[in-house]
Amino acid sequence: MDFQSLLEDIVATLRPELGEAGHVANYIPALARVPAARFGIALRTCDGHEAHAGDSTTAFSIQSISKLFALTMGMREMGETLWERIGREPSGNPFNSLVQLESERGIPRNPFINAGAIAVTDRLVSLFDAKAEMLTLLSSLCGEPVQFDEEVAASEAATGFRNIALANFMKSFGRIDNDVSAVLDAYFHHCAAAMNCLQLARATGFLCRDGVHPFTGHQLLTESQARRINALMLTCGTYDAAGEFAFRIGLPCKSGVGGGIVAVVPDRLTLCVWSPALDSTGNSLLGMKALELFTAKTGLSIF
Ligand code: GLU
Repeated sequence: MDFQSLLEDIVATLRPELGEAGHVANYIPALARVPAARFGIALRTCDGHEAHAGDSTTAFSIQSISKLFALTMGMREMGETLWERIGREPSGNPFNSLVQLESERGIPRNPFINAGAIAVTDRLVSLFDAKAEMLTLLSSLCGEPVQFDEEVAASEAATGFRNIALANFMKSFGRIDNDVSAVLDAYFHHCAAAMNCLQLARATGFLCRDGVHPFTGHQLLTESQARRINALMLTCGTYDAAGEFAFRIGLPCKSGVGGGIVAVVPDRLTLCVWSPALDSTGNSLLGMKALELFTAKTGLSIF
């Protein structure tokens, strides 16, 4: 399949819609300044073939896509014990909601809502320097150095009142072991990692290779752990729109409010799309359209 022409076609099809609809995330001031009219797409196949088009090498804030990598570290380090304090069900609530946490006694529904990722990060902070380990993992997975955007991290720390509330609320139930401020510092930095589409298409490669590192060939996760991450991406990876994503796209995806979405075609390839204007569910509007075009044109889907 000529993936390069296909991605260029998708860019050409969507270009007229750039900047037309949706809104850049504005609850984090540093993200509100990102121009809306950007679109990039990249993929990497299991045998190492790469294709990319549009703004595919422009770095953006990966935001909630980092939850995927925090979960990967958590599963690798802790195996089944990770699930003692985190569920695996879709929440049906906004990603930063406090409501369920009260009735479910501080146990977040899944690792891809903010409370769940904060709980995973707390476990990581108990084990090692979670910020440094995240950068090491991301850099190794994409084969290039990755850095945090300190301005974004500071902006989130200054305005992340809900995340601060979520972390304190879990702490009140005895579900957070470390200092809330240390856990949030790591969480905000993870969200503020700056990567481009091509780097993310590479970095997620272990998810289409049954857990095998895309460059070194070593087993990063077991085959069953990699499958479970894909299952969680399908059911919980795209906020309140996971059902719509499964219906329209049919691939495990993880999105972030920076406008990025990563998607996995098991045993074939991983891809990443980025366009900062979001729809009302917090997912990239053109990113979702691009994935829909991609699966329609290639027939690739897990169903
Ligand atoms: N850093 C963002 C927050 O905690 C992540 C949100 C997202 O991308 O879903 O609100």
